[in-house]
Amino acid sequence: MSRLDGTCVVVGASHAGAQLAISLRREGWTGPIQLVGEESTLPYQRPPLSKSALQGAESGPAPIYSPEAYEKSGISLMPGARVREIDRVQQHVVLDDGRRLGYDKLALCTGARVRKLQLPGHALAGVHYLRTAADALGIRAQARAGRHVVIVGGGYIGLEAAAALRQLGLQVTLLVQGARVLERVSAAEVSAYFARLHAAQGVDIRTHVRPVELRGGRRVEQVLCSDGCLLAADLVLIGIGVQPNLELARDAGLAVGDGILVDNCARTSDPNIVAAGDCAFHPNGLLGYSLRLESVPNATEQARSAAASLCGLRKPYSALPWFWSDQYDCRLQIAGLNRGYQRVVVQDDAAGRARVVWYIKDERILAADCINSPKQFIRAKKLLAEGASAQALAEIG
Ligand code: FAD
Repeated sequence: MSRLDGTCVVVGASHAGAQLAISLRREGWTGPIQLVGEESTLPYQRPPLSKSALQGAESGPAPIYSPEAYEKSGISLMPGARVREIDRVQQHVVLDDGRRLGYDKLALCTGARVRKLQLPGHALAGVHYLRTAADALGIRAQARAGRHVVIVGGGYIGLEAAAALRQLGLQVTLLVQGARVLERVSAAEVSAYFARLHAAQGVDIRTHVRPVELRGGRRVEQVLCSDGCLLAADLVLIGIGVQPNLELARDAGLAVGDGILVDNCARTSDPNIVAAGDCAFHPNGLLGYSLRLESVPNATEQARSAAASLCGLRKPYSALPWFWSDQYDCRLQIAGLNRGYQRVVVQDDAAGRARVVWYIKDERILAADCINSPKQFIRAKKLLAEGASAQALAEIG
């Protein structure tokens, strides 16, 4: 029988950490819960940062839960506090300022941080990354109509930021190292759709091109590209992916790989410690392999499972991955993961606005990218849950 009246410390106050703390109380934890987060704000929604927040549509980041919700659940928030070490023998964590917090159970929800690009001029003012509300605010403050922004990276963050900044009237150039946008995550038919969409909006997409030098005095002014081109740049935004924050766990001797290793109940190699969200490398029974996911639904659902584990319950996490991306007035919804697909089936509507790309492996449906097709997205989730064969697509037509 688990003790539920001890102290639980949650490290990382974002989608996973906030959900874990709230769920922990719902699962019956009666002892103190401390939610420790490096950022100085209340846990907030990260997805709008590359969408509405970049356009200045909101006064501040949208909270995940209201302050009252934490208060009602008796959760102590410790914003602006970074955990630098875990002592698993003494069962305490050490904060940057030297304070120690004892724990009976510990949850690691440390998420991920941006990958940095090392090239001459990388430290010039005007060079940005986008992970936090502070990052979005910094970009927004410099995003004026007519200015030139060079975006490095043709993944979701790069494309969403391109859409948001273009809508503000900036001149947007997007540098893509590979042959097409979304190359790592989507089929060519999806990439082509988004390349067309952005080109129609006036975004200059350059494939097979990477920056080799950022030039300027104190601020960035130009980007020298691998094809010899010199681009004007008042702003550079780099979106080349993230890496998991696993050092805290690794240094404490927990098992890590491409993330903190957990089982399907979010338990690490230490029975007193769980991990959830972007930082956790976990098995997925539906997919049949282990992986690390970077999405809000994953962070939230895995956190619920982790909270149950801390209370001695078993609620395995094995959900179908899903994701979304908003660009201009276009919504992409993704069901499943397309890893290892052998062919695709493409369905377009007559107007050319909606497109669904189904990914097939061994004649089973693996995943679907649904562009402006919310009904097909719901159907895709259902078909995937049923393990449907590609033949089911003939009925959809
Ligand atoms: P994070 O959100 O990374 O939070 C981890 C927190 O832990 C951070 O606040 C960090 O400062 C803190 N922390 C780390 N180490 C320590 C420490 N030692 N001590 C104290 N605190 C620490 N997902 C979607 O599903 N849909 C989208 O449309 C979408 N859009 C996105 C747009 C942007 C711009 C970004 C950046 C992400 C987007 N994502 C989207 C991904 C989604 O936001 C992440 O998957 C989600 O935030 C993961 O939550 P998390 O709690 O695991 O980690």
